[in-house]
Amino acid sequence: MMTSSYIAAPVFAELGDGFYDPVTPARFPVHHLRFRNQRWAERLGLGELDDAAWETHFARFEPLPGNLKAPLALRYHGHQFGIYNPALGDGRGFLFAQLRESSEAGGRLLDLGTKGSGTTPWSRGGDGKLTLKGGVREVLATEMLEAAGVYTSKSFSLFETGEMLFRGDEPSPTRSSVLVRLSHSHVRFGSFQRHAHARDVERLRRLFDFSIEHYVPELHGAKDVTGLEERVVAFVKIVGERSARLAARWMATGFVHGVLNTDNMSITGESFDYGPYRFLPRYDPDFVAAYFDEGGRYAFGRQPTVVLWNVARLADALRPLAPDADFHPAMLAFEDAFHTAMRAGLLARLGVVSREVDEDARLVDGIYGFLDADAGHPRSVGYDAFFFDWYGGIPRAARTMASARADRYQGPAFDAFHSALAGYAAVRPDALGDAYFEREDPCTLLIDEIEDIWSAIDTRDDWGPFEAKIADIRAMGAVMRLRAE
Ligand code: AMP
Ligand code: MG
Repeated sequence: MMTSSYIAAPVFAELGDGFYDPVTPARFPVHHLRFRNQRWAERLGLGELDDAAWETHFARFEPLPGNLKAPLALRYHGHQFGIYNPALGDGRGFLFAQLRESSEAGGRLLDLGTKGSGTTPWSRGGDGKLTLKGGVREVLATEMLEAAGVYTSKSFSLFETGEMLFRGDEPSPTRSSVLVRLSHSHVRFGSFQRHAHARDVERLRRLFDFSIEHYVPELHGAKDVTGLEERVVAFVKIVGERSARLAARWMATGFVHGVLNTDNMSITGESFDYGPYRFLPRYDPDFVAAYFDEGGRYAFGRQPTVVLWNVARLADALRPLAPDADFHPAMLAFEDAFHTAMRAGLLARLGVVSREVDEDARLVDGIYGFLDADAGHPRSVGYDAFFFDWYGGIPRAARTMASARADRYQGPAFDAFHSALAGYAAVRPDALGDAYFEREDPCTLLIDEIEDIWSAIDTRDDWGPFEAKIADIRAMGAVMRLRAE
């Protein structure tokens, strides 16, 4: 059953009244296991659960030993597309269990939360369910982002649940699923906004203290932040920097989250809640993922700005705890953290060792100069293939310039990139010998590939392409060795 690395830590319940509502999970007609994250299960002492026990906990949601006795639908508010919505909260999910990671692994407090587990007091007339396609898409997103070194929630389990759902944006009826998600926290910017909106300073304070205790070790022993106002400012600065690093990583990876509402922003700087996301086919700051994002508020190139806007809303929510606080330095720290992480993220994708800031900045300019020029070309190499073709720097040129994309690497924008790259050394010179770099194309997760994977499931119940993609993503992750900070 559980091994000794399973450590139950159901601390969210200690927050008490006003933060959550105990709920009853939905009963599903069938449970077909479609994805089990054995890697993460082993890290958490759950790797030895047999199929029946896995189903008991992650489809029937019977409590894990010593864990939450009933699932908790969490309360929160949020700005959705810039408009404040006080009618939010976990409408189709809940906090199922909390675990303590081993201290060698970092000792973080981890949550197992759900998506598609039935209605709650916050369902607002929705059915509380998740489509199978939505579940498949979230598993693929989390696997890809983890492999790309983005700090993301993990998909822990996905069951198909045998119901027929009706959705305006998927051919209906459509198949159903229930997802279990693993993440460092489910405390959202919107969790604070809820108490600020209610002018409930006591609960705001309780959530703030809880968050520092469990999610901000940076402030635990810090002697210079003993006053509440200083702690609030430091908290906003730290969460802002985490968010800036996350936004930078999305940008380097070419990821468009799609719905950057304040209820989808975690105080741990972890990326989560994957709905209409897309990976960029080619560089395009105006690229929009969600069809309902008509104004392009959450377009690829606007992500850093909207994340900063969200951090400002977090500061607003904390204002009642620190009426005279100056959050300006925290906002400036965001900029710094973003640019530093952006350079690091792009260099990591290229697999080259960082040099002086000025040189790195010149390389970044070279990268975007080329990608921008390339984007308009009918045979654009695209965002991912560019990094694949130049991984490890100049030593890769011999193979790339003999590949089918060779003729795309010429002209003034390419020359500028190439000369900026010239002085850079490979992080891992041996990586180029890996079979992955002998391929013609990198491992990607573009929309057409996802649609093909879904089509095989939808029309033939063929899970082969889904499983093959996950294996391919994991193999790439093992070669690239990009780790989320
Ligand atoms: P999301 O777009 O997934 O971040 O969800 C926004 C809000 O709508 C959250 O409060 C969700 O819990 C809720 N929600 C989304 N889909 C459903 C559904 N099918 N049933 C009930 N609530 C939902
Ligand atoms: Mg959400």
